[in-house]
Amino acid sequence: MSDKSTSSKRPSATATETPQVSSPPRKVYPIIKYGDPVLEKPGAPVNKFDAELEELAEDMFASMYAAQGVGLAAPQIGKSMRFAVVDVTGGKNPEAKIVLANPEVTHAEGEVREEEGCLSIPGFRGYVVRPQFVTVKAQNVKGEPFEIRGENLLARAFCHEIDHLNGILFLQHLGMLKRDMIKRKIKKLRKQGEW
Ligand SMILES: [Zn+2]
Repeated sequence: MSDKSTSSKRPSATATETPQVSSPPRKVYPIIKYGDPVLEKPGAPVNKFDAELEELAEDMFASMYAAQGVGLAAPQIGKSMRFAVVDVTGGKNPEAKIVLANPEVTHAEGEVREEEGCLSIPGFRGYVVRPQFVTVKAQNVKGEPFEIRGENLLARAFCHEIDHLNGILFLQHLGMLKRDMIKRKIKKLRKQGEW
């Protein structure tokens, strides 16, 4: 999921902020944009919890921070698997880094209508109703099961990323008029070679 301010120009004060990361250089994946079929098909369950998956998780965090997002799902870097990373602090708090393998929403409560964006649909936002609270059951990068509760933006990020793992984009939650307008604009951008 994209950060609140990614659709418009970011103020230069925040654009120069860099996350406090002291790990080795990471691979920053290009983010796949809307139109690629990988974004609209369900990912395969993760069943190998090895060093490669740990690398992938860290590379996904790096890619997400580079794109100023708060969540990134594996299909967005071309990997059709049920794997995502979330950090609603944008790298400011290492403890806020959440790795979700095979996540599922087990409980949802309340409703919040808020503007949402997606790193795969840059420049476009729309109001989406999401639960205010969710409980998510998932496995961590080592394959250990855990449960996590999210509220507001975190709940939204969980739902948005889990949607990605099911091949669903936030566009599908918009009204038909808004959705068609965005699709039309993207089509035009693609024709101009700008997508
Ligand atoms: Zn997204």
